[in-house]
This record gives sequence, C-alpha cells and structure tokens, in this order.
Amino acid sequence: MTNEAKEKIEFKAEVAQVLNLVIHSLYSHREVFLRELISNASDALDKHRHLALTDEKYKTSDAPAYAIKLAIDKKKQTLTISDNGIGMSREEVIQNLGTIASSGTKAFLEQMAQGNKDSLQLIGQFGVGFYSSFMVASKVKVVTRRAVSEEAAVSWESDGTGGYTLEEAKKEDHGTEITLYLKDDAKDYLEEFEIKEVVKKYSDYVSYPIILIKEKNEEETINKVTAIWRRPKNEIKEEEYFEFYKYISHDFEDPLLYTHHSIEGALEFKLLLFIPKKRPVNFFRDDIHGLRLHVKKMFVTDQCKELIPVYLRFVKGVVDSEDLPLNISRETLQHNALIPKIRKQLTKKIFDLLEELAEKEPEKYREFFLELGVALKEGITMDFENRDRILELLRFKSSAGSSEKDLVSLKEYVERMKPEQKEIYYIAGTSREACQQSPHLELFRSKGIEVLFMDEVIDEWVIPSIPEYQSKKLKSITKGDLDLGDLDKEAKKEKEKADTDYKLLTDRLRSALQEQVKEVRISVRLNESPCCLVADENDMDANMEHIMKAMGREFQETKRILEINPQHAVIKNIKALLDKDPKDVRIETWASLLFNQALIAEGKAVKDPTSFVRNLNELLENSTGA
Ligand code: ADP
Ligand code: MG
Repeated sequence: MTNEAKEKIEFKAEVAQVLNLVIHSLYSHREVFLRELISNASDALDKHRHLALTDEKYKTSDAPAYAIKLAIDKKKQTLTISDNGIGMSREEVIQNLGTIASSGTKAFLEQMAQGNKDSLQLIGQFGVGFYSSFMVASKVKVVTRRAVSEEAAVSWESDGTGGYTLEEAKKEDHGTEITLYLKDDAKDYLEEFEIKEVVKKYSDYVSYPIILIKEKNEEETINKVTAIWRRPKNEIKEEEYFEFYKYISHDFEDPLLYTHHSIEGALEFKLLLFIPKKRPVNFFRDDIHGLRLHVKKMFVTDQCKELIPVYLRFVKGVVDSEDLPLNISRETLQHNALIPKIRKQLTKKIFDLLEELAEKEPEKYREFFLELGVALKEGITMDFENRDRILELLRFKSSAGSSEKDLVSLKEYVERMKPEQKEIYYIAGTSREACQQSPHLELFRSKGIEVLFMDEVIDEWVIPSIPEYQSKKLKSITKGDLDLGDLDKEAKKEKEKADTDYKLLTDRLRSALQEQVKEVRISVRLNESPCCLVADENDMDANMEHIMKAMGREFQETKRILEINPQHAVIKNIKALLDKDPKDVRIETWASLLFNQALIAEGKAVKDPTSFVRNLNELLENSTGA
C-alpha cells in the first residue's frame, strides 16, 4: 500500500492518555528515554539478524554491519537515533506508534494514577517505552523502512498531542531513524559527554556497537559491546553485573541477587540470572519480560517462557546455549528436546540460590519473600517436581509475630509446637489484623499455641496443596470440630458437662435461628467472646466466601454453625432467662443479636441492619434500669 499525501491520524485514546502523562509529569530520570530508544533499536537489530539466520529472504551475501548510531545536531537542536534493523512497514508504524495493544498501558496509567512516581522511570517495563521520547522532545520524527519489502519508507511525525502525520519518505537501507527535536530544557542531550554518560549508565551492555557520530563525521563506539555472561566470573565486578541487570530489566534499582554459571558436560550453556528487589510492575500479567535466550552468543528471543516455570517469571537474565541450533526460533524451540533439560538445570540453580539466601541471610530472604513469596506460593500449587524444595522456602505470618513483616517457616513452626500438639493450626482471613482479632484465636492465644495466618488470596489455593508437613496435618481453626487432644483434657470434660447443661438453650437458639445457621453448639475455642461462627469441616469458610464474592463467582452460601461460650456472662444470662420462663420471647431477640455480632466479628455486614439496630436499642433501653 502506498500513500503519497500527508495523512493525519489521531492517537488512540490510551496513547493520548499515556502521552499526556509523559508530557506533563515531573520526572527525576528522564534520561531513560535514551535507554528506551536504544533498546528498541537493539530489538530491531536482533529481529533482523535472527531472520537472516532463519529465513532465506533475509540472507545477504555479506552480513550487514549492525549498529546503533547517535547523531547530534546542535544547530537544529536535534538528537537522532538510527539503526539498520528490521524497520517497520506503514501498517506496523500505525500499529506500533499509534495504538497500544498490550495491557501495559492500563497498568501504566493505573500506577501513575496511584501517584507512583517511579512509574515513569519504569515506562519500558510497561511496553510503552517509545513514548518516553516526549519527555525530552517537543517533536519526534520517525523515518523507517521495512527490510525485505517492496514498500516505500514512511515518515511519522508528532508533537505528542492529538495525533501524528504519515507520509512516504526516502530511505536507502532498511531500519529506523528517530529524530528528537529537543525541548529547550533538554539541551543537555546535545552534549557528547552527557550522551556518553547516559549510554554508559543504561546501555553499556547492548550487544551492538552504539556509535556516536562526532563533529567532522568522526565515529566513536561508546559502549562495551561484550556479552558479559561469557566473560569469566572472577573478572567481572559486581557493579558490572548490576548495570547489565538494569539494562535487561528496565529496572533502576540494583537486583537483590544474581547467579552466574558456566555449565559444562552433556549440556553446555552459560547462565546469568537475577532476582529483582521489587515485584515487577507487571508481575500478574503473563507476558512479562523474563529470560533472554542466546545461542553461541547470538540473540534468539526474549521473554522465553519455555526455559523457566511460569511462577518464576520474575527471574531475569540470559541463557546462552552452545548446543541449540543457531537457526532455532520461538516456534521451533517449543519442540526442541534440549529445552526441558536446560529448564530443569536452570530451575535447580534458582532454588539453590534461594535456599542459600534463606539459610545464610534470613533477613534478606524475608525481604525477598515479602515481595515475591507469592510466586513461590503459586509454585507450590503447580510444580510437583520441586514441591519439597518450595515447601521449605515458604513463609507465613503467624500469631507469634508482632508485625506484617514477621514470617515463620513450616519448619520453625513445627519446632515450636507444644509437645502434645499434633496438628499445624492456621486461620484464613482477609488481613493479618483480621486473623489476629478473630474470636477463634482466643483459645489458642490463652494456651500459647501458635497459629499460622493465611491472609493472602492465593493461600486458599496453597492450603489444599499442603495437606500435611512432616506428617502433621494442616488444620483450620475456623472449621469443623476442634479437638486439641491431650492439650485440653480438662476442657473436654467441661464441654461434655456444658453440652448437657445447655441443651435446652442450644436447642432453643437453633430453632430461633434455623434460617441462618446449621447448628448451635457449645464451643471450646472461645475465651472472651460469647459466640462465633464455624464452618462445617467440608464447607467453605468465611474467607473463601469472601474471595469468591470478590472474584464475582456464583456460589451457594452455606449455613454455618453457631458456637456459644458457656463461660460468658451473656450466654449465662440468656440461659437464666430460659430457665425462668421458657416462653420468654426476648430469647429470639438475643439469638439474633448473637448471630449478628458473630458476623461483625468476622468483618461481615449484619443481615438485616434495621432490625439489628432496633433489637440493640431495645436491649440498651431495658438495661439502664431506669
Ligand atoms: P516495546 O519495546 O516494549 O514493545 P515500545 O513503546 O518501546 O514498546 O515500542 C513499541 C513498538 O514499536 C516496538 O514493539 C516495535 O515493534 C516498534 N519499534 C519501536 N522502535 C523501533 C525500531 N527502532 N525499529 C523497529 N521497530 C520499532
Ligand atoms: Mg521498547
């Protein structure tokens, strides 16, 4: 398709929103625009080089001198970034520079709306890096020509507001040339030393030469152009690893950890892996940048899902294989028998790394778990092969901790168990706070028995994946009968007595509340509260219902069991009422108040607020003694 006239096209709404933010925000690191443009150029070169290896049409007699060139024009106040990569057709320009297909935009806009000021620096992680050029430019011009295409080059131009123009252009070679008309306050980027600084900081490890074109057309390569992962470990400074990490991850913080190996033997490959400090912004999307695959140094693909279990997608890095064929592609690697073998070894290395951290630097491991533990929790639900290793790496909040950040492993929990204790107790809730304040915890607190807090949504899937640990069953304290066994012989006897003494009352409450509850019975779990609601052993508990509701799932709300505390004055009072006059209608009112307060204690709404308030007021009126 050709089009000779200049055509004006509006930006799609999401692009306009992103641009509006980019143009009008205050930023502390706007030099990242250069990293983003260089990274796009490098991607375009990778694509071309890879096609030249795999597709006849792209093969040329002599391989092109792949490079990224930077040219400064002080008079025109422009900075130009060009590459001889794959280029774009007119259609692709419209797709890539005028619309945003990925869910990244939405995530980006959400983060910005939350006032997350780091988001602009992380713009590349959201897949909208190109637009960062408008942080420094009042106008951007892109001239590009698609390799192996009859189509003429196309020129795209925009000031970042409203839309852009497209017209046919002249360009000899395939590739892309991006000219930034720098804003007055961005003139720094007309200085050679400034450009060198920024390239060194963010793009030193780009695997193509970045060439600065100086006055008199002199050329200087200003990056290292080395494959850092192929260099011997002892020659690499930590600083260099960190810089490389920032380059591949678009992160601006140092990584938490890295591991670098040269694997030899039946399989030969180099491995350089990083674990970030923070959960990546797009962690819950499945298209996040992960591993880059190289073969004999040559780039093959990034976001290589086949090389790593999906739950470890936060790991960034490079795998460079000596055994895979050079012309392997994203499609063919799915069927290559070596890939699962590499994946297995690589996964093992990650577990080695995490285990070592957990053992040697528990504090740092805790930091890791608070950010990324959710990934391991995902892992326990799906990776049976590594189940035992993951299990030891899990951490939970518990009643023994005093803050959000106190975590316990299953091993520690078991070590701290009371000698007579047979099961691992847990409570599921919407937050640490909610677990901590649940009436169900009272008995355990009074006996000094530790209870794990399952306060993350994913825990509802984690729990069924861990039926037991070291032959000790995981047991919910809000479900089913509570039998503390030998821990509580006294209480058992007392309960049996209360069962008979309070039989009239439990029956009466049961008939008063038959619409709301399955059963009313004497509790052994309560100290301070008069009552609580318990799920039957195989029913959904309150937390699971809460989650199902939040996910918009339909489910049958199951009736639960009301447990009452015979030691509590309120219960004793109702019993006294009943003993005096079994026909006393106040008992119905009290029953309803008990049920509703049990709901409130779980953080739920009362079923019929109007009658709840009426009943409560009636009770208050009568109790003033006036
Ligand atoms: P991302 O790189 O994460 O996809 P960007 O906003 O940085 O997001 O770029 C958008 C798209 O524009 C790229 O995916 C690519 O298809 C295209 N693009 C950008 N720069 C170039 C370039 N120099 N050569 C070829 N295509 C490019
Ligand atoms: Mg990009």
